Amino acid sequence: MSFSSEHQAAMKQQGRKGRCLHFENGVRCNKIILAHSIQKQGQLSLIAESGHVYRLSADLSALKTSGGKPQLRKVGLNRASTFPGMCGQHDNELFSPIDNSPLTGSREQVALYAYRSICREFFVKENASITLNKMVGSPGLDWSQQQLLRSAAWGQTVGFQRLKRHKGIYDECLAAKDFSGFKFVIFESGSKFSFQTSGLIFPDYDFLGRQLQDLGPQTKELDLLTFFTAPTIEGWAFVFAWHESSAKSCSWFIQSLAELVRTGAKAEDALLRFGLVCCENHAIRISWWDGLSSALKKQAMDAMVLMADPTVGVEPDYLVSGCEGLADWSFDGVRDVT
Ligand SMILES: [Zn+2]
Repeated sequence: MSFSSEHQAAMKQQGRKGRCLHFENGVRCNKIILAHSIQKQGQLSLIAESGHVYRLSADLSALKTSGGKPQLRKVGLNRASTFPGMCGQHDNELFSPIDNSPLTGSREQVALYAYRSICREFFVKENASITLNKMVGSPGLDWSQQQLLRSAAWGQTVGFQRLKRHKGIYDECLAAKDFSGFKFVIFESGSKFSFQTSGLIFPDYDFLGRQLQDLGPQTKELDLLTFFTAPTIEGWAFVFAWHESSAKSCSWFIQSLAELVRTGAKAEDALLRFGLVCCENHAIRISWWDGLSSALKKQAMDAMVLMADPTVGVEPDYLVSGCEGLADWSFDGVRDVT
């Protein structure tokens, strides 16, 4: 088995190890389920066609068949965006206000969407950190492979620790049912929608290419921004959300989007670009994608894989432009709760 396929296999194995990431996890969490990080009923079913959506595939078999490039793959709703990161009882109890009702814009609902993004990323990052640290000691590695693994393992561990701090903040607020510290901006739309996402970033550059935070390993504490799409009574919404402890970078980030829009750019383009670049957890409407020109498909695919190679750093202006004309939906209003 080659080095990279061994890594893929180890990641897959680790990814199947379910555990409950609910803030009150304990001995009663014995029935781990495949939790949807993008809601099945409210979100995925809105864009599904014949029960399927497109997802970005980065697994090795798909990479081989596409000549080494990630591609979109049809995935059934039951499997799209799931992870074994919560027990059934906790998942049902905690997320009931968002799984059974459209987003009305309450702080509790927003906090729950954000928490779900954090739990998924926590699960993925912890798995990567465990797998890479295990592999560092495997026999048969040459010196350069060992160095590569050591540095990747260290990077994942730093990333995981950073995220763990934020999960702790959210855990405390949710356990106390104190949602007062959550801030958010909701972009509302009544148009047909073809793209769903749920994720988070440590914002590094804003929509005008100005640096917000230095993501280098020397920075101990980073501000965290979560984002997600959600069903609303009138249609759907794209939401940015953060806890007030991350307000410095996040407020600035949102401000820069307003500045970009004042220069004549469209918020629809900017948010789709952001969603494609900053997160690999998407679901895409099949007929929308199939109907795009090959030039637009290439732009979107380039955006989706921009962050995939950690050895290639992003340019400061990566959110300033790109993917214009892809979004065929429009926002009707913006609600700012900051
Ligand atoms: Zn549980």
